[in-house]
Amino acid sequence: MKFPMYKKETTHEKYRNDPFRAVNFKTDADGDLICPNHKKFHLAYRKAVKGNQYGRQEEIYECEDCSGCPYADRCKKTEKNRTIRVNQELTEFHEEVLDNLESIHGALLRMNRSIQADGSFGVIKQDRWYKRIVRRGLDSVQLELYLVSIGHNLYKFYNKQMKLQQAA
Ligand code: SF4
Repeated sequence: MKFPMYKKETTHEKYRNDPFRAVNFKTDADGDLICPNHKKFHLAYRKAVKGNQYGRQEEIYECEDCSGCPYADRCKKTEKNRTIRVNQELTEFHEEVLDNLESIHGALLRMNRSIQADGSFGVIKQDRWYKRIVRRGLDSVQLELYLVSIGHNLYKFYNKQMKLQQAA
């Protein structure tokens, strides 16, 4: 599934290859992140991601010494050492998504989906103005979607029957 910055990540070359983005930092033999000025980042603390119900945590790393750095203007906005947030698990997921979607198999699946599912989805959402699920709770939502899908299938079936009658 595409993630929020997928479009920018795949189409904006300057953003994707920006050497000052934390995800583009290299790691040394000890596994520490190294910035473009060859300084190490050390784990400062961990904190819970705000609003996350699953206890997800992110790690905050701080550069060992940003003083006198020639890249400071491009890399950071404050006078302090630069800090970065890293969610290793999320970064790995993003890499997996990019690999999957950019592979030949992924491109074929996406094309197939756009042919098979998006048409019906577009008709239900745009033409029939069904833009929001109105019920709450998993069972009710499921039931509502089944009813909408049955309605759409009946509509297609009826249209097909009419076309066959007119052709006969
Ligand atoms: S500002 Fe700090 S983190 Fe950024 S490149 Fe310079 S030393 Fe590295």
